[in-house]
Amino acid sequence: MLHIINKKRVSEELTREELSYAFGGYLDGRIPDYQMSALLMAICINGMSEQEVFDLTDLFIQSGDRLDLSEIEGIKVDKHSTGGVGDKTTLVIGPIVASCNVPFVKMSGRGLGHTGGTIDKLESIPGFITNLKEEEMLFQVKKIGIAITGQTANLTPMDKKIYALRDVSGTVESLPLIAASVMSKKIASGADKILLDVKFGKGALMKTRKDAEELATLMKKIGMHYDREVRTLVTDMNNPLGNSIGNSLEVVEAIRILKNEEHNILTELCVELASNMVSMGKEISLAQAKQEVIEVIQNGMAYKKFLEFVKYQHGDLSKLEISKKKHDIKATKEGILLSIDALKIGELSVMLGAGRKEKDDVINPRVGIVIKKELKDKIAIGDILCTLYLGDEIPNVNVEDYFEIL
Ligand code: URA
Repeated sequence: MLHIINKKRVSEELTREELSYAFGGYLDGRIPDYQMSALLMAICINGMSEQEVFDLTDLFIQSGDRLDLSEIEGIKVDKHSTGGVGDKTTLVIGPIVASCNVPFVKMSGRGLGHTGGTIDKLESIPGFITNLKEEEMLFQVKKIGIAITGQTANLTPMDKKIYALRDVSGTVESLPLIAASVMSKKIASGADKILLDVKFGKGALMKTRKDAEELATLMKKIGMHYDREVRTLVTDMNNPLGNSIGNSLEVVEAIRILKNEEHNILTELCVELASNMVSMGKEISLAQAKQEVIEVIQNGMAYKKFLEFVKYQHGDLSKLEISKKKHDIKATKEGILLSIDALKIGELSVMLGAGRKEKDDVINPRVGIVIKKELKDKIAIGDILCTLYLGDEIPNVNVEDYFEIL
């Protein structure tokens, strides 16, 4: 292991055997955390060749089960976002895509750091089941065209163990490690085609558009290596997505979009993502797919599909709860609203209890933030910029850390 760490320290390429020795050994418990942390840091600093990334992705995939979706008819398209603040796109596009007769079967994750997760959002609906067994998930997709669940089978356990170590060793922000981590999960999940929403900006893992584009290109190459069509969108995560951050609040916002009651940047992104999935799933042009997507939103089919999906997974929307304890954050100066710091807002939502500070924290689905102003709005002193939906504490908020007004 020391030889392997030293090789990577001086930027030499590791063979598949060496990667397998190190990563396989770590999964088995033969390689300790401190040696794997050193190797991960060397990878973070010196990067990986394309061949190394392909080999690592393959080792992640081979470490666990692979889902077989072949009994579901049609082309299965999976979608992945590299994480954001207020990103509730899966809740919206799932029912839209299913209404366009493209099967939507997705394994989603929980929140990580300041970013939210689809499973936490769905679990804010009382009764909603997120641990479907594989056969239940397949049955449901065949029946109603959509199922979203937490990880069912034992997929990519090597990535899972490595990810937990990266999270506490300052090695999350590595292009090759992110690419191998994301793509191994997508390939193991069994989809025929993959749509990736690669985020950049303050609230994202990639801080610049250039890095996000590089990551997108690398993930496309991994897809090609496995004979999968991969489309990528590179999208802005400097500002939060939509108006609501926090689990129940985000479900409410998703419903408003599905009911065609909300038309903002988030709505546009949802239409864009859903259109790409429908275009890939039906092998039709993007313009044609977009027409279908807009139609199922306007004629209410997508919203109906959402209700059917929630009911199928035992959720009761009538019991969705939002905290009654509110606190308004007001502007202390006048001007134009230039930006809203997605990272800071994400961290504030964690402080309120909408996310986890420690891995095993229990989140409060009722708390969060609703932003009341749009970018470029004219702001007067005393205007309400956002409303906090509180748990037990009122956090101390310095408005200027969150809202840039000039
Ligand atoms: N999401 C993942 O699944 N893995 C990463 O490494 C980063 C984001």
